[in-house]
Amino acid sequence: MASSPVTNSQKPVFVVTGPSGAGKGTLISLLLPRFDVLRAAVSATTRPPRPDERAGVDYHFQKRTQFLEGVGAGKFLEYAEYVGDLYGTLKDEVEKVLKSGKHVLLDIEVEGARQVRDQYPYPGSVSIFILPSDPRVLLERLHQRKSESIEQIRWRLDRAEYELQQSTLFDRWIRNDDLDRAVAEVVSIADDARGGGRAREKKDFEWITNYGRGLQAEAQRLYDELHQQKG
Ligand code: ADP
Ligand code: 5GP
Repeated sequence: MASSPVTNSQKPVFVVTGPSGAGKGTLISLLLPRFDVLRAAVSATTRPPRPDERAGVDYHFQKRTQFLEGVGAGKFLEYAEYVGDLYGTLKDEVEKVLKSGKHVLLDIEVEGARQVRDQYPYPGSVSIFILPSDPRVLLERLHQRKSESIEQIRWRLDRAEYELQQSTLFDRWIRNDDLDRAVAEVVSIADDARGGGRAREKKDFEWITNYGRGLQAEAQRLYDELHQQKG
């Protein structure tokens, strides 16, 4: 699926991944203005724009045929199907960032993050998996964002169960509860990228294991709600 590495640059690619609603976008929007060395690569997607989104800034919005032509032409560093739409990182976008002398920061779902990790093993890339501590909060955040219908939220929650199972693939895990603290943790991970090992403690593994059960309960609750609504 993923094609050959786009660059020989020594700069690690920073990848923020995790389920929808975890706060990846929010975290990145705080990091970018504070750290001039970081730049986001604008992804391509077949998903329609949300009302507040701008083409070429938030995403390159593409028709499915255009996206698949790009895949065929080797234009993507990685891509994945996510709840019915295609999302991918364009090599051109990554090159643009690297040529400007900055580090690339990617906000991508776990399949794409896995592809980047396979092409640039740690410390060539540093993948950070983020989640709020409590699965109920993940659901609350998805509701509060008001960008998806309940059905779409349910779909994203189902996907989150799978994403959680993949979490052990990634280099670091961050609990995104207090935003400032989460930002500070990303910064310390980035500073440490050339040296440190994988700092995951036993309690983190217990947390992730229980999280899956919590998510299943939330998905069931939402399913019941949808059923009641439909009568
Ligand atoms: P993602 O990009 O992972 O799908 P978002 O960044 O869109 O998630 O965050 C989902 C919602 O949660 C948004 O409404 C955002 O404002 C909110 N949010 C994100 N992080 C926090 C946090 N640490 N505390 C409270 N709300 C948060
Ligand atoms: P959203 O529709 O909420 O903008 O994004 C849905 C998911 O797609 C999020 O988890 C986001 O991180 C992911 N995503 C955004 N851009 C890319 C990309 O270029 N590649 C991959 N694999 N996932 C992406």
